[in-house]
Amino acid sequence: MLSYRHAFHAGNHADVLKHVALVLLLDYLTSKPKPLWYVDTHAGAGVYDLERGFATQLAEHAGGIGRLWDAPPPTPALERYLALVRSLNPDGRLRRYPGSPWLAQQLLRADDRLLLFELHPADHAALAETIRGRRVRVAREDGLRGLRGVLPPEPRRALVLIDPSYEVKTEYRQVCDALRDALRRFRTGAYAVWYPLIEHAEAREFPAALRALGAASWLAAELQVRRPGPGMYGSGLFVINPPYTLPDSLEPTLAALARRLGEDDGAEHRLEWQID
Ligand code: SAM
Repeated sequence: MLSYRHAFHAGNHADVLKHVALVLLLDYLTSKPKPLWYVDTHAGAGVYDLERGFATQLAEHAGGIGRLWDAPPPTPALERYLALVRSLNPDGRLRRYPGSPWLAQQLLRADDRLLLFELHPADHAALAETIRGRRVRVAREDGLRGLRGVLPPEPRRALVLIDPSYEVKTEYRQVCDALRDALRRFRTGAYAVWYPLIEHAEAREFPAALRALGAASWLAAELQVRRPGPGMYGSGLFVINPPYTLPDSLEPTLAALARRLGEDDGAEHRLEWQID
């Protein structure tokens, strides 16, 4: 849906959840010597200016990264994530917020590869300008369709981030279809799917649909920042083939995020997993 611009939402509670987990996943996967592919099916613009343009209109970052900025990080995972965001803001003031491709580029090694799909012409142009390099490909193509063409990657190690806006309700089904196909082609890949907590039937049924894909190893992390009601009251990340270390890192981090980013007494977190 090309009316969606991620700049309106950059650095909000959903980005914090997704990006802390992304850093944990990439840190683990890059600790092994074999080269890795990072595929971002809905990559966004790469970096967001929080002091100009769309990001200033809703200032959603104030309820996300803004609530973490001036206090000591409560867990090692948050410390690591905040250090990366701080490296983009060297004068200490929170002016810019990184998107998933920027975070990935910082963490990947010389032999790893980034494949980034972004359909919006302006965000694609910004992304191609921001994330460059010999090991990077930025494609203005449908990310779920593009994913088919690259699986399985060679060598067979990859993290795929699937992060649509879900502005169109059919996206929930399209993500499940794409994952089913991806698992047929590349069963051992790591896949991370972000989803919103909102009061729509499709969104409510989505976590169960992801589990029903039948992956042997999975993890579901949800951060709810307020009581269920109108709008997005939290979000979740479903990871297929997660590292065995992920639950131990995420549990205290999610608890800390529910405390720091919580807006009312409905703030809570949920973490479930099954790791073979
Ligand atoms: N992953 C980014 C991050 O964490 O920084 C945020 C991505 S944002 C939630 C979703 C992005 O997907 C938007 O920039 C939108 O333009 C783009 N998009 C929408 N439909 C798409 C499609 N079919 N294929 C690729 N990108 C798409």
